[in-house]
This record gives sequence, structure tokens and C-alpha cells, in this order.
Amino acid sequence: MAYSLKVCHLYGDLMNTYGDLGNILVLKYLANKMGVELTSEVISLDQKFDPDKYDIVVFGGGQDFEQSIISKDIQSKKQALTDFIEDNGSVVAICGGYQLLGHYYIGANGEKLMGIGALDHYTDKQKDHRFIGNVVIENEETGEKYHGFENHQGITFLGKGERPLGKVLEGHGNNGQDKTEGAIYKNVYCTYFHGPILARNNDIAKHVLVNALKRKYPDADLEPQEELKVGATF
Ligand code: GLN
Repeated sequence: MAYSLKVCHLYGDLMNTYGDLGNILVLKYLANKMGVELTSEVISLDQKFDPDKYDIVVFGGGQDFEQSIISKDIQSKKQALTDFIEDNGSVVAICGGYQLLGHYYIGANGEKLMGIGALDHYTDKQKDHRFIGNVVIENEETGEKYHGFENHQGITFLGKGERPLGKVLEGHGNNGQDKTEGAIYKNVYCTYFHGPILARNNDIAKHVLVNALKRKYPDADLEPQEELKVGATF
């Protein structure tokens, strides 16, 4: 194939509670349709994250226990992950992964788990409550609608340079207050949507792949890839 992309499945062995691995399968499937070879590897505890090695990072959701372990380990990867993001690397971060890319997450037991602050959001706790259910949002820049399912106790508030992935039409989203769901920063897509969100929302997968291809192959003519119709046609 003419193009290739490499995915880092960050803490893929610990943060995969809702079948988030499915997102990588979807990326691979769509990449192949685009004539792009896509491979992935898990980078987990005590392993180095090399920002020059990857085009896309997928960071899944998880429970507070796993997050408390990762909160410590990820500090050693903080600079490399921040460099990757600032250098326009593509990231898909879900739930617990989304929370740990920000400044901190307050767990259900009140413990403050530090994130890496690569993005400017923070996540507070709800009082004995979780947001659970279907969510529908609209990306106000593209008009695309995204569908997902949320299950989180954390409530996230966006910071500098971040815009929401979408406006909440149904469900709770980031915090149940400001009608925002998820975050976009540079080529980073964050969301509370569970499981293989990219299977239900091929448009997001396409943005991630096209952004990664444009970064890796700045001189290539990617028009055929961008023209690819995703969604029901598959
Ligand atoms: N443990 C976090 C919370 O409850 C994240 C949950 C998740 O990844 N779905 O908010």
C-alpha cells in the first residue's frame, strides 16, 4: 500500500473496559479502504512512549482503580505525549483516557488523580451519581451528528484552546451543565462515548485518519482519501 500509519494503543491492556480496542479495528478497516496500511502496538506501564514512532494514539476508558495506577505511570510519559500532541499528532481519547490528558480527575472516593495537563480541562466528581445513557451531539463546525453511550461519574470542564466535540442534543456530556460533550484540541479528539465510538461515528474516524495522513505525508495528494465516503456505504 502507498501509505502506512502506526497506532499506539496507550495502556491498551488496562484501559479497554468497554471494548475500546474496537476503535483500532475500525481505524484499520477504514484505513485499508483508503489504501493505507495501519498497524498498532500497546504501550503500557514502565514502557517508553516514543513520539516519533507513532501517527495516532488511542487511549481508552477505564475504571478508577486502573486510572489510579496509570495516573502515576503516565507522568513519565508526560513530556513525550505533550510533544506528540503539540506536533499535531492524532489522538482519540475516551472517558478515563480523556480525563487523564487533562490536569486531574477526582475519583468517586474523592482521591485526586493527576493527569498530564497536555489539554487544559479538569475533571471533578459528582456527588454519589453517574451519568449513564445514550448521548447525541452535533459537531457545530461540520454539522455532523455523533451517537454514543456514556457512563461516567467525573464531570469535565474545558479549558484554553479546547472546543467541544459537539453540542449535547440528548444526554449529559462533559458535565450536564454547559451542553458540551468531549473536546477537540489540535488533532486530539476526546469523548465520553463508550466502546468503539468510531464504529458508530465513521466521520470521526475519517477525520483522525486524514489528519494523520496529512501530517505524515504533507506533499502527497490525498484527495482520493479525503473523498472516501464513509458510513452506510460500508
Ligand atoms: N472512572 C471514570 C469515571 O467514572 C471514567 C469512566 C470511563 O472511562 N467510562 O468518570
